[in-house]
Amino acid sequence: MALRRRSGETDPVIATVRSPIDPLRDEGATGRIAPHPDDSDQRLQKIKEFDRTYDDDYFLTPTQMPSLESAAARVERAQELVGHGNFNLLSFDSLLRFAENYTEIGAFTKAELELLEELFYNDAGLYGFFGEKVITDLTERIPDRDVIKIAGSGHYLLKGESLERFTQIRRDVGKSIALTSGVRSIGKQYQLFLSKAVETAGNLSQASRSLAPPGYSFHARGDFDIGKAGFGLENFTERFSETEEFRRLIDLGYVSIRYTETNPFGVRHEPWHIKIV
Ligand SMILES: [Zn+2]
Repeated sequence: MALRRRSGETDPVIATVRSPIDPLRDEGATGRIAPHPDDSDQRLQKIKEFDRTYDDDYFLTPTQMPSLESAAARVERAQELVGHGNFNLLSFDSLLRFAENYTEIGAFTKAELELLEELFYNDAGLYGFFGEKVITDLTERIPDRDVIKIAGSGHYLLKGESLERFTQIRRDVGKSIALTSGVRSIGKQYQLFLSKAVETAGNLSQASRSLAPPGYSFHARGDFDIGKAGFGLENFTERFSETEEFRRLIDLGYVSIRYTETNPFGVRHEPWHIKIV
């Protein structure tokens, strides 16, 4: 078993003690890398100051960087061609097919595909992201019949609980509540994560403190983001939690926020992200 890089484990004796038989490092039935309880202070610090580099952050290698940049640009071109609304539902296979069939996107190279697969199959615990993996099949599709487009938002919601909860919130808080991101396929999650990974110069830990890696986003299972209409990108900052809309949302009592200020997943506080599943 490869030794995992983790701050505070530079002492080889400690590293030996925390070998696979240590129950605190028990990976359980899922085989996932679990956070060590000793790390909680550092984890909270990272959640608080999420958009910076830490000593034990996980980076792509310099040879992977050109593939990251070209793959990210290719996915952006695909999104432009498909349209932002429909791109939210695009499966991995459809993404590859569009890339192959349209010269303005261009087929993914072998190195790019290897990187995309690595990003999907890596255990995100490597980066310090401890959320659950919700998609295990890279080619999973979201059936059209399961979703509904929310007028005026450019986003979709899964029928059933997600749609009911959003409708209920809008009824109780008012029309100033906007859907800012709904159901997202693996293709859309790639677009967001790759773009963030380019921004962080290949620092996947920093990227995953803001965005779930492909396969780990509950947007694929019904979670959605809401904001205050007209508040723009401020909706994805702490400032949303200072709005009247947020206060009323919390007062409702039936709304859960997935990534709280003290969440165990290594993710920044996201007051806008509604937990459904
Ligand atoms: Zn979200």
